[in-house]
Amino acid sequence: MPNYVPITPKPAQDSHDAASAPSEAVENNKRRRISVSVACNACRRKKTRCDGKRPVCSACEHTPNSCTYRDDSGLSEESQSLLQEIFRTLNALPDDQILERVRSLKREVDPLAILARLRGEGVT
Ligand SMILES: [Zn+2]
Ligand SMILES: [Zn+2]
Repeated sequence: MPNYVPITPKPAQDSHDAASAPSEAVENNKRRRISVSVACNACRRKKTRCDGKRPVCSACEHTPNSCTYRDDSGLSEESQSLLQEIFRTLNALPDDQILERVRSLKREVDPLAILARLRGEGVT
């Protein structure tokens, strides 16, 4: 009696050869290019390349334009220029008046009113 050994071949498990191929995706070369996501308003308008330097970018450095960044505070351009005007006015005030003027702004929330007060206008 022949000794029949039932050979049940094991189900081949190598159908999915999961031999991990060396992933070449790990190419972690750090880009040396400085990507500037934020261009200043002037460069945006003129579509010139902006290096995003603060407070004044290289493109604006040689221009009389003020270099402003729209994304700085989420303020509109109009508000920003108003804000700048406020600071300009504030800076132009004589030292002995600054405190008094600023105090008078305590309850002002409207930038236009603030500017008017700083200029000494509209103070009744
Ligand atoms: Zn710029
Ligand atoms: Zn600029």
